[in-house]
Amino acid sequence: AARKAGGDRLVVYSHQLNAEAGERLDLESLLRHAVERNELELHYQPQQALHDGGLIGFEALLRWRRHGKLISPADFIPLAEESGLIVAIGNWVLEEACRQISVWQAEIGQRVVVAVNISPRQFAAPGFLSHLEELLATTHVDPSCLELEITESVMVEDAESAIALLHRLRALGLKLAIDDFGTGYSSLAYLSRFPIHKLKIDQSFVRNMHAVREQGAIVQATIGLGHSLGLTVIAEGVESETQRAMLSAWRCDEIQGYHYSRPLPAASALNFLEGSLQLQAA
Ligand code: C2E
Ligand code: MG
Ligand code: MG
Ligand code: MG
Repeated sequence: AARKAGGDRLVVYSHQLNAEAGERLDLESLLRHAVERNELELHYQPQQALHDGGLIGFEALLRWRRHGKLISPADFIPLAEESGLIVAIGNWVLEEACRQISVWQAEIGQRVVVAVNISPRQFAAPGFLSHLEELLATTHVDPSCLELEITESVMVEDAESAIALLHRLRALGLKLAIDDFGTGYSSLAYLSRFPIHKLKIDQSFVRNMHAVREQGAIVQATIGLGHSLGLTVIAEGVESETQRAMLSAWRCDEIQGYHYSRPLPAASALNFLEGSLQLQAA
């Protein structure tokens, strides 16, 4: 049966997968086996510095490949969260991102930064910190090459524990970012206590900022807020040159979106990386 909290898109998928399997649906068990069956993969979306147009790093975005088709995280992350599978999936994502960082660094002889999305339940799970410590120790990845993206919602449940954990993650040398900033319920008082490095302005504000004055005002104010807290500010969902130019004029630090690049499979991301190194050298 389709799951309550999964939303409409998941319901649609449930029916599709159900029909496909020709038997009673168990999307949850399909997802449960996705890790073992090697059906998960990461795509990488480049992030660009506005001051010189250079590549900053990549955001790793999860995909589920079933029968050749890619299923978007929006269609299975909610179920994974609800069922607790997110912990195993999230660990796989962290391991794969670290593996990829090592492979790329060996390939190009330079450090590569990769940001990974951490779901609230994964963040709150016991063992999250120790798993990360172990992973960094075994892969020898420089912690500052790994950025964790968390959402404001981690503060809602238990802000004090969240802040304490962020301090410990930061002490490991990891980079920390708040994803989808502006869409949650965090108070500015808590934000100032979050030991983070970066704010990611949600794409919903960026989408209409050139057309709707108020949206532009929110983006501009968020850039100012981030800078007064000493944070790097990146805008998500930048699709046009108009948006890029506005963000640059407002002194936003970085952009991510289709204008610079779509998320890329690992092999294409390496090409992108090599291309930007050549630009830099030229
Ligand atoms: P997010 O972390 O905010 O990631 C940005 C989303 O915006 C990605 O969708 C990306 O493909 C999309 N995007 C990037 N540039 C543009 C643009 O210019 N225009 C538009 N319209 N969209 C753009 P995607 O890959 O479908 O991921 C959706 C969400 O799923 C992510 O939002 C994140 O919250 C979650 N997610 C993805 N991978 C993981 C993961 O490994 N673990 C967890 N827990 N969540 C993940
Ligand atoms: Mg993200
Ligand atoms: Mg986001
Ligand atoms: Mg999002």
